[in-house]
Amino acid sequence: MSYIIHRSLRQTPPVAVSAHGILVRDSQGNTYIDASGGAAVSSLGHGHPDVIEAMHRQIDRCAYAHTAFFTTEVAEQLAAKLVDGAPDGIGAVYLVSGGSEAIETALKLARQYFVERGEPQRAVFIARRQSYHGNTLGALAVGGNEWRRKPFAPLLMDVPRVSACYEYRGRGEHQSVEQYTAALLDELESAIVRAGPQNVIAFVAEPVVGATGGAIPPTPGYFKGVREICDRHGILFIADEVMCGMGRTGTMYAIEQEGVAPDIITVAKGLGAGYQPIGAVLATGEIVERIRRGSGNFLHGHTYIGHPVAAAAALAVQQVIERDALLEQVQKQGAALSRMLYNAFDNHPHVGDVRGRGLFMALEMVQDRATKAPFAPQRKLHAAIKEQAMKRGLMVYPMGGTIDGQHGDHVLLAPPFIASASDLGEIVSRLSDAIEAALKQ
Ligand code: PMP
Repeated sequence: MSYIIHRSLRQTPPVAVSAHGILVRDSQGNTYIDASGGAAVSSLGHGHPDVIEAMHRQIDRCAYAHTAFFTTEVAEQLAAKLVDGAPDGIGAVYLVSGGSEAIETALKLARQYFVERGEPQRAVFIARRQSYHGNTLGALAVGGNEWRRKPFAPLLMDVPRVSACYEYRGRGEHQSVEQYTAALLDELESAIVRAGPQNVIAFVAEPVVGATGGAIPPTPGYFKGVREICDRHGILFIADEVMCGMGRTGTMYAIEQEGVAPDIITVAKGLGAGYQPIGAVLATGEIVERIRRGSGNFLHGHTYIGHPVAAAAALAVQQVIERDALLEQVQKQGAALSRMLYNAFDNHPHVGDVRGRGLFMALEMVQDRATKAPFAPQRKLHAAIKEQAMKRGLMVYPMGGTIDGQHGDHVLLAPPFIASASDLGEIVSRLSDAIEAALKQ
């Protein structure tokens, strides 16, 4: 009997009792390879001694200090480290407790920036169809995940939506990548013009789409185009890197690979790597300076912002990534994982696409490769793959849902950065077995 409101109210999940490296153990003695880092969280694997020691030290010194009264050395050090490694223009950081809070904060920060500039009529965010930005009401409103939004739709602000950059499904048979990219950018610009550029606050997008399609990278030049359009119309660009950021794609921020600097970046998951709940909003010096010179207060705040133990964990995670050259490791092992996935699934009749960046890879499952027809939603193939993978001691992040009337089943892999080549081989082998078993089910 469980008194927890679990994700499924019909089924209680296994009880995790210990976790070390890439392995999680349950109370029945089963061991699982964490091939998804939970949900792209556990970038250093589990039980990393340096992170745990940093948390212990901070708990002993000062476990909590409310930000209405104090800042802490460790939160200041983390913020400085994040600003130091961030794309051009980023000048300050707001520390929160997770991804949804980071998005809510980003939306309010962007709105207040324009209010302080004397443009209070700006109230529109533009976002994309394939997108997930979190489950709180503001984050849910900007996200495009239909099945998550549906029961709450009357509570959500109106957000004009444009197509995501999703080449596998979006690019026409006779369209070049350049033509496809240009069409997407036209669509964005038209949406801005329709809303009235003077009414728009920001365009919100995940540089590499995570939870609504699985590791969908942008086409070359797409985000350069986004940046130009936002600049032309004087609106902000918010990059949601909650899932794809903090090294997951082989660079600290996925947007770095596009050669573009956003006005606001949200991160979470890999920031604390699961050791503590923590997220952050990185903003340009211009945004923060405007509010400083204006009202002087960002009208926001939560009880646990800047939590010192969470900051200690995140700072230690950053230090380990740097010391152990883990970004290079992600690039190298990402290339290896990608090769293994292509070898295993490139000719598979029900794998339509293998894609991703770094150690952020996904498979898109299809009924028919030629037509790209998806499986029927009632079949819940993604759930069957998860179940079969768990039976084989493998955690993968399965995603299924309907976006824009189109159902899809995806499998996301986001293994810890410390996974060895043989770990990756074992992951692909178990995944392959799980997929075959799920297809027979
Ligand atoms: N943005 C993105 C891109 C995400 O992937 C997620 C979580 N999957 C969130 C925001 C919300 O983060 P959290 O679950 O920590 O609230």
